[in-house]
Formats: sequence, C-alpha cells, structure tokens
Amino acid sequence: MIEIHSYIKHLTCSDCGRIFNVDQIQTYCPDCQAALVAIYDLDAARRHVDRDRISRRPKGMWRWGELLPVRSAENVITLGEGDAPLLRVDHLGSQLGLKQLFVKDESVNPTGSFKARGLSAAVSKAKELGVDKVIIPTAGNAGSAMAAYAARAGLRSHIFMPKDTPFANMRECQIAGSAVDLIDGLISEAAGMAGVKARAEGWFDVSTFKEPYRMEGKKVMGYELAEAFDWELPEVIIYPTGGGTGLVGMWKAFNELEQLGWLKNGARPRMVSVQASGCAPVVKAFESGASYCDFWVGAETVASGLRVPKSFADRMILESIRASCGTAVAVSDEAIGEAQKQLGAAEGIFACPEGAATLAALKELVRRGWVHPDERIILFNTGTVLKYL
Ligand SMILES: *Cc1c(COP(=O)(O)O)cnc(C)c1O
Ligand SMILES: [Zn+2]
Repeated sequence: MIEIHSYIKHLTCSDCGRIFNVDQIQTYCPDCQAALVAIYDLDAARRHVDRDRISRRPKGMWRWGELLPVRSAENVITLGEGDAPLLRVDHLGSQLGLKQLFVKDESVNPTGSFKARGLSAAVSKAKELGVDKVIIPTAGNAGSAMAAYAARAGLRSHIFMPKDTPFANMRECQIAGSAVDLIDGLISEAAGMAGVKARAEGWFDVSTFKEPYRMEGKKVMGYELAEAFDWELPEVIIYPTGGGTGLVGMWKAFNELEQLGWLKNGARPRMVSVQASGCAPVVKAFESGASYCDFWVGAETVASGLRVPKSFADRMILESIRASCGTAVAVSDEAIGEAQKQLGAAEGIFACPEGAATLAALKELVRRGWVHPDERIILFNTGTVLKYL
C-alpha cells in the first residue's frame, strides 16, 4: 500500500467561505446549508509532488493520495476503484461525424458504478475520524457502494431507497449487510428520513454534498483525464448529472491541476450536464439563467441515477457549467434506449441508461452544431447496465 502524505489543509464553505477543521467530523455549513469543499496546500504540493511519480504508481484512485483527504494509509478502504478505461470509439465517432470521441467506462468500478470512487473516499475519511455507523439516502448506486465500503471498513450501515429502485441495488445492499428501508417516494423523501434518523440516533449522513469527501473521490476522474491526454485537457466532457458530485468534482480537479502547474495550458473542457427530460432541474435552471434549481415535481425516468429532483449543490453545478462555457441538455427515455443500443452495437459497450443519456445528448449537440468534428469529446458511462435488466 502507498504511504500517503495528504496535503489537505481545511474545509471551506462553498457559500460564505467559513473555514472548518479537517481533523474533525464535518457535514455542511450550518449557517448557509451549503456544501463544504476540501482545500489543499497546493503551493507545497507543487514543490514536493511529482505528477510523473503518481503516474508510475500501481493503478487506482488512491495513487493520487497527496490530493485526497485521508491522512493515514491504514484508513484507506479500497476495493480497487478508479482508473476506469478511457476507450476511443471510432465507429461511433464516424457515425456522428466526429474524429475524436471517447468513452470513460466507469462501469468496471467495484460495485458496478463510479459511486465507488466517492464512497471509497467518504467512508475512508469517516473511518479515520472515528465514525462507526453511516447512513445514506440513495437513488440506487450510492447505496450499493456505501454498503460495500462500510462493510469493508467494519462500519454499520443503513440505507433509505425508493421502493422502485432497480432490484439489484437493493440486493447488493442487503448482501453487504446493510439495513435497507424501501420507501414510498423519491430520493428527496429518502433524504428527509435519513436526516431524521441520523440526528436522532447519531448516524453519520453520507448524502451527496452533505459530507465533503464523496466529491474528492469523484474529482479523480478529472485527474485521470488530464493524465490520459498528456496534461492537455479535452475540449468537451458530457456527464449525466444527478447530485452533481462528478461534474463539480472534475471542475475542482481542473482548478487544482492548474494551481499545481501540471497542465500544459489553461484550456478547460466545456462541461455538459445531461439529464432526463422527466427530471431536468439543472437544464431548466441553466436555460432560464437561474442560480439555483427549482424542485422538480413528479420526477420520472428509467435513468434512476438521474432521478434527483433537486441537488444539495445545485448552485455549484450551475456555476461549474457556466464557468466552463458548457451547457445542459435533457434527453427522453426513448432517446436513451436508442443510444444504449447504438453504443452496444457500434462499440460493444453496455451502457447504463445514465451513460447512454450522454450519447443521446451528444447527438443533440451535433445537430445543434455545438461540438466541432475535431474536438476531443468524452462521454461518461457511469455504471453497468446489468443492474437494470
Ligand atoms: C449517481 C449516478 C449518476 C449521477 O451522478 P452525480 O455525480 O451524483 O451527478 C449518474 N449515473 C449513475 C449510474 C449513477 O449511479
Ligand atoms: Zn457557510
């Protein structure tokens, strides 16, 4: 195992800027009800950390340990997450008239989705700080991932999920020894119930952005992309957005890499947020110029990971998209189904509905002329389709 010297300094409120101690258990800013963001001593890291040494380490998310929050290697809870393949997809590219199209295939992560990255980071840090029981509301894959990492860390876990979440997600949680409450409602109702139980019984709530470290795990996708493109970031990233940890996390990663002096130039990807037309609060807010999302009433889509009526970090999602000169696109379940078949038939990639949604959105962006044929474009396949069969 790699010895880690984390350069983490403190946490700061994404709204008021108040500073929080990183060696104590933290949730979110009580004054602003806003997410806390991990801040690293990047000046020191710039002097002492060699990006090429990181590239030579054994594969996996924790090879970026200097830029992750855990202080002691013995607290790292890993199942082999990270370094999901970046596949060049030339058949699909030529069908769309694009010369440099890629799929980052996160479906190979432990627990079958990229949620593994975030939960590996969050559960590891929680363990380091002495947490002994964790609770989460989930639209599906976050619950599976938390159950697995909590089991491996020796923590108790409790999960609230909508009763129409894909069956596999529920079984995974049970198999990993979690207590599972199936509820009548969406992740928003599940979040309310988890919060009540957490406060009443002292469970640590690992809800999206209500603790600071899931974003830290997911930001590593941004580091991996930078490294894969030899430290020149690609032009467009198309990301299926539910809670937004990956989108906000990658945008944070690019800022960190710039401060570290690791990027060859200042060019940043345009971040595209994809949602389902049956639950598209980010798209609606983006198009209307709003800074926050309205709660989406009656959320419904096959892409269960996108069935998030309002993210706790809606403002940060919208800021990241706008700062990147990106956009937001809603796609129908029908278009998702077609895209799923196209990815399978053209490239042998079995995409989950959320992953297929990125291709459906790309096709729309090609129609609009929003992407250029020569641009390097990344689609994120965020999980395995097997859970949805
Ligand atoms: C959770 C999830 C998403 C959305 O991810 P966020 O980072 O929360 O926006 C997308 N796809 C799948 C398969 C998911 O499980
Ligand atoms: Zn605050």
